[in-house]
Amino acid sequence: MSYSLSRPFGLYIHWPFCVSKCPYCDFNSHVSSGIDADLWQRAYVQELERIYQESKNHRVSSIFFGGGTPSLMRAQTVEAILNKIEQLWGMCENVEITLEANPTTVESHTFRDFRTAGINRLSIGIQSLHADVLKFLGRAHSMDEARTALDLAAQTFDRYSFDLIYARPDQTLESWRSELKEALTYSKGHLSLYQLTIEPGTDFHKQGMQPIDEELGADLFDLTQDILETANMPAYEISNHAVQGQESRHNLIYWQGDHYIGIGPGAHSRFQNQAIHQIYKPDLWIKSVQEKQSGEQKRKALDIDERAIELLLMGLRLRDGLSADHFEKLTGRPLLHQLDTQGLQDMIELGFIDWDQNYLRPTEDGRKCLNAVLEKLIKI
Ligand code: SF4
Repeated sequence: MSYSLSRPFGLYIHWPFCVSKCPYCDFNSHVSSGIDADLWQRAYVQELERIYQESKNHRVSSIFFGGGTPSLMRAQTVEAILNKIEQLWGMCENVEITLEANPTTVESHTFRDFRTAGINRLSIGIQSLHADVLKFLGRAHSMDEARTALDLAAQTFDRYSFDLIYARPDQTLESWRSELKEALTYSKGHLSLYQLTIEPGTDFHKQGMQPIDEELGADLFDLTQDILETANMPAYEISNHAVQGQESRHNLIYWQGDHYIGIGPGAHSRFQNQAIHQIYKPDLWIKSVQEKQSGEQKRKALDIDERAIELLLMGLRLRDGLSADHFEKLTGRPLLHQLDTQGLQDMIELGFIDWDQNYLRPTEDGRKCLNAVLEKLIKI
């Protein structure tokens, strides 16, 4: 592997608490009334000090506070974490520091405090611009709060993004078209647009809710691509759209197979060809950090086959696809060796894949059925 071992890495901090649990959510998020903010702050700082011991000589290129709802953290905790990161590793000059936020009044009035603490990019969970849909999705904010949060984000941050969920039951092409057009009036160069999926373990799944008809889902996806391309915000990843230069640099680390370290309950890392997992349950995580000075649950060395497959699964989510050079640098193996020759040929002929001897890219049609394309493409 010829990549420099001291290349920068991304840091992910997981805050596992929310004010309520949304019925579609399968993230590691919990409602808790007894959060000891000092204890959590100390635990994050302690975990940073521990992981520094194995990641010295690297600098940090991006930091992402995700959750859960990290905008429920105290700004002083965010600041303490950022100060510790700067003190231990040092940050790259253009470091991107993102915080996921929800748009309740309480949270949007802390945006300024988070900016002062060092956050320079916000990702806001708006999810819909329709009041009835917010209710259906079990969101804790109102439409007025959503609009106020977007205005405050625009006043406070040079970079922000927000999420919307589509492919909802009863959604028509027309209503999605007008919602998207309104969303674009609030956008500052980045939007995340996710199709509603019904995940096992969620309330929607328990209620027996069904995903929308596949054909309508495909039409909604096509409409999304058309409107966002016209707005000069094409999809750079299946669900993420940006004006050129406004892509989430942190998420690109995941999709391009670069290395990152995650701390907090359930966070995981890919660092120097190891997969590292932190303890999932928040109470067990914090107990372990306190008593054993580590929140780590397990680690495993990834062999070349696992790295290669992971790179393909992630890299082909990107519009720009996967570069053969990059693949070979990270795995020591030519890209074509990992591909099924007949499968590649078939996918090219069917118009699902472009291959120019350096970049392997999914076409727009290929991105719509990526899992099926990957099954044909990858030699296991
Ligand atoms: S706010 Fe986000 S993380 Fe929390 S329950 Fe809702 S979808 Fe899940």
